[in-house]
Amino acid sequence: MPVPEPALAVLVLGGTSEGYALAEALAGRPGLRVVSSLAGRTAAPRRPAGEVRIGGFGGAEGLAAYLRDAGIGAVIDATHPFASRMGWNAATACAATATRLLRLERPAWLPGPGDRWQNVADWNEAAAWVGAQARRVLLALGRQELAAFAGLDHVRFLIRSVDRPDPMPPFAQAEIVLARGPFTEADELALLQSRGIDSIVCKNSGGTATDAKLAAARQLGVRVVMRQRPARPVLPTVPGVAAALAWLGRP
Ligand code: NAP
Repeated sequence: MPVPEPALAVLVLGGTSEGYALAEALAGRPGLRVVSSLAGRTAAPRRPAGEVRIGGFGGAEGLAAYLRDAGIGAVIDATHPFASRMGWNAATACAATATRLLRLERPAWLPGPGDRWQNVADWNEAAAWVGAQARRVLLALGRQELAAFAGLDHVRFLIRSVDRPDPMPPFAQAEIVLARGPFTEADELALLQSRGIDSIVCKNSGGTATDAKLAAARQLGVRVVMRQRPARPVLPTVPGVAAALAWLGRP
């Protein structure tokens, strides 16, 4: 009798819609074992399909030890474009353990005709631009990313955040709107117009859940201060789940 091949164990580094979609596509397939890893930042995260582990690995060395112990045969880094540390750790750990590694990353947004974008490398550069050029600003950032803007007392900020910033940086003029995407273009137009927003600060996450603000900004001539993605290791990279399945040899 032929001996069945052991299942291929695939580790999905997740925390993104792509990570959930990939786990969903892989779970239950014969000959595959899928383990999703979440950082554990969210108190009650949605559970991906298949096995789940939560929390950091303890750097690249910890991840390498995990890959060996769990018998992982392939890693797919589907973390958020701005979660770069995990990407570097994955590259180091996979090189050390000769584990196949793929990057699954949604394409970045690109400016089109009518867009008024200012690309910046970090939040300090964004704050310097805002301080000099803007007066009424929508900060569409994570709540841990606000501090660089707090000293701009002459600027009126509208802060949109999933959870209330805690601690709240010392803004002189700030209103908080608690909201979680996706947002429609009509909602974004209404928000920008009702507050007289002249500039939006955001990061180039890509995807469709939060791109309506860019279309609304284009319509209204609002400027967009767009933080560029951090550097990542050069790896085989695919934009979606179908291409990731093909890379695994399980289309
Ligand atoms: P990061 O800077 O790349 O990672 C910081 C540390 O968090 C890593 O060194 C690692 O700890 C741990 N970690 C990150 N992702 C992990 C995962 N999937 N499984 C286990 N441990 C993980 O990442 P971050 O910006 O803090 O983001 C954390 C998570 O939130 C990511 O998984 C990302 O996909 C998700 N997320 C981030 C953003 C964003 O804007 N940054 C937006 C949406 C979702 P150890 O070194 O101890 O292994």
